[in-house]
Amino acid sequence: MARIVMKFGGTSVGDCDRIKNVARRVKAEVDRGNEVAVVVSAMSGVTNQLVDYCKQIAPLHDAREYDTVVSTGEQVTIGLLSIALQELGVQARSWMGWQIPIRSDGAHGKARIETIETTELERRMASGQVAVVAGFQGLGPDNRVTTLGRGGSDTSAVALAAAVHADRCDIYTDVDGVYTTDPRIVAKARKLDKITYEEMLELASLGAKVLQTRSVEMAMKHRVRVQVLSSFVDAPGTLVCDEEEIVEKELVSGIAYSRDEAKITLVRVADRPGVAAAIFGPLADANVNVDMIVQNVSEDGKHTDLTFTVAKSDLDRATKVLNERQGSLGYERLVPDSNVVKISVIGVGMRSHAGVAQKMFSTLADKAINIQVITTSEIKVSVLVAEEYTELALRALHSAYGLDA
Ligand code: ADP
Ligand code: ASP
Ligand code: MG
Repeated sequence: MARIVMKFGGTSVGDCDRIKNVARRVKAEVDRGNEVAVVVSAMSGVTNQLVDYCKQIAPLHDAREYDTVVSTGEQVTIGLLSIALQELGVQARSWMGWQIPIRSDGAHGKARIETIETTELERRMASGQVAVVAGFQGLGPDNRVTTLGRGGSDTSAVALAAAVHADRCDIYTDVDGVYTTDPRIVAKARKLDKITYEEMLELASLGAKVLQTRSVEMAMKHRVRVQVLSSFVDAPGTLVCDEEEIVEKELVSGIAYSRDEAKITLVRVADRPGVAAAIFGPLADANVNVDMIVQNVSEDGKHTDLTFTVAKSDLDRATKVLNERQGSLGYERLVPDSNVVKISVIGVGMRSHAGVAQKMFSTLADKAINIQVITTSEIKVSVLVAEEYTELALRALHSAYGLDA
């Protein structure tokens, strides 16, 4: 007997037939004698619709009320899946985040899970009842509902798996594993049997939305065995595991892209101590995460241009925060640009091999793709390019690094 957490994403619960299909998969695990908790997302498209409603009412809205609205999608699916399981003769009960409760911090819209109360849940699981838990939801310090950021049901699942000491956390989705790059864009993408926590963390944080970044962080920290697999076809998925478990290590294991980037250039900022703090401090206070940053060498010793990226969804807020301070910051112009994509190549092999970045630059140059910003770390290189080059760049790089299937 094993204790398993199964998670099903939006497409997997996209309509009633699919929910019935999920119920059959859950029943199969129960029939094998396993203790099961299931985490589900909202039906595909529902969360987007809810986000859109909030934006229509007010583009810059209260984050607490945003959470009240967008957390509702998951309530529907836990109820429907519980009914579907009961129809199959499986004992099941639905759980909203607050009912467990899954405690989070108070960062509405991107809350972090802090603790999960598992006593009652474990008691019921041990008695053969399937716990059907709403993903994405938390309960903040002020007892208000929070949400965990887009794609947050993955994190709910891994956190629950860690909390109940599950033997496995199976993430069922609409692809049958983690690929070398998004298989919807590069047809020659190859499925990986295994990937290290570290590489998966980079892939996720650099845009491969197959797993939410925090879910990987959490899996790595608590050593949860995460498997990504298809809810539609029976095929072995991808295991996320320790580096030691992987025999053949690739130089580059994956390529990610993120369209969720926007670039801001401040033209002619004063070049003096304290300016970076004066710019990035208020952005941090406004909950805007800054990612890539480049500052040019000042030509006259007095002024310089500063370029950085933020999430596309934060562009308006970042622009507002900076424009309000134009006087004190003393820049000449702010140029926003949301027509960009960040493309990253990732691989633990980079630690010991040179030339990976060079190959990236020359491959993009051969396709006449201009690089706007570059950042590197121990196991990745990222570049910012114009959004229209996304497909071209991904395919060219995928071939250049020998990843094509
Ligand atoms: P779910 O609704 O099940 O959570 P998501 O849409 O969040 O599913 O994540 C699955 C999607 O992630 C896939 O449909 C695929 O397009 C995308 N994706 C991006 N990069 C990768 C990758 N490297 N491997 C697999 N899927 C990827
Ligand atoms: N329903 C939420 C979203 O669309 C959470 C999830 O699907 O993981 O972001
Ligand atoms: Mg997802």
